[in-house]
Amino acid sequence: MEPVIRIRNLSKTFGKNGKALHNIDLNVGAGEMVGLIGPSGSGKSTLLRHITGLVRGDQNAGGVQVLGQPMQTDGRLNGNIRQTRARIGYIFQQFNLVNRLSVIENVLTGTLGRIPAWRGTLGYFRDDERALAMESLRRVGMERFAHQRASCLSGGQQQRVAIARALTQQPDVILADEPIASLDPESARCVMDILSDIHQHDGKTVLVTLHQVDYARNYCSRIVALRQGEILFDDKASELTPVLLNQIY
Ligand code: ADP
Ligand code: MG
Repeated sequence: MEPVIRIRNLSKTFGKNGKALHNIDLNVGAGEMVGLIGPSGSGKSTLLRHITGLVRGDQNAGGVQVLGQPMQTDGRLNGNIRQTRARIGYIFQQFNLVNRLSVIENVLTGTLGRIPAWRGTLGYFRDDERALAMESLRRVGMERFAHQRASCLSGGQQQRVAIARALTQQPDVILADEPIASLDPESARCVMDILSDIHQHDGKTVLVTLHQVDYARNYCSRIVALRQGEILFDDKASELTPVLLNQIY
């Protein structure tokens, strides 16, 4: 079966900084939950951004396909890339909620890839879209907060709302970049439990970057480790020995 994410010989150079990614080959199959680990600056975020097509790899280097669609842009977005991007839910370390909007309004913005922009601007959403947003909030245990301002929530609660926003988009793939790095341990576990549930229960493909190796071990059956832009390890979590960890960090 064609992998959901297919990366072939991808390299990325940022000016004088040198290579952020170096000959990356990576397949992620449908329904996998993969933990991407590695020290700060090893290229984790850069790799995730390439998967969305927001960043273009070096010329003559390989490329990225998501759901069979090549994601490289040459500045312009073609319709196919736009459609594929709508099937990718993205979760950020800093949640990126709009503080002045209510929780449900934030979640509804997750439908924007599928509705005309003017409706979003006017806050005009159909009942079925509101119902879908409430269902997503229920999924992350935040339905009671639907009409509160996003700015009133704790970090862990904001991240749960951000996950609900991604779910409302009804994605096939979830990319999460350090989703628990700003959270206390209890909130971090809660967020990882939710991501794990989305993977196990809904069968969504999840690729999550994690600073903390322990979380990757506990939640991801497969771990990919980057060091200086290269993949040093790609195997079952149980194969990640202390000796290998020493080489990675
Ligand atoms: P990680 O997410 O693992 O901490 P990053 O992907 O953010 O690593 O960064 C990998 C390398 O690429 C770092 O050396 C970083 O300085 C460099 N880098 C990332 N983005 C840019 C950019 N927009 N311009 C220049 N260098 C960048
Ligand atoms: Mg990063």
